[in-house]
Amino acid sequence: MKGSRPGKLPPPSPTSDGGRVCAAPGCSTRLSIYNLGSACWQHADLVFPNYRGKRLAEGKA
Ligand SMILES: [Zn+2]
Repeated sequence: MKGSRPGKLPPPSPTSDGGRVCAAPGCSTRLSIYNLGSACWQHADLVFPNYRGKRLAEGKA
């Protein structure tokens, strides 16, 4: 009987599950699966100035 081999590991795929990268040009930062945006947190504010939407009224709770 032949021993079971561990088998070959799948090659690293740039588009693997949850392997998204920042949409900013030149940025290859991998996005977290919890990051619903298309850019990393560093570029999110630059690419999407209004990403966070309007700020809550100051002074009022
Ligand atoms: Zn980025």
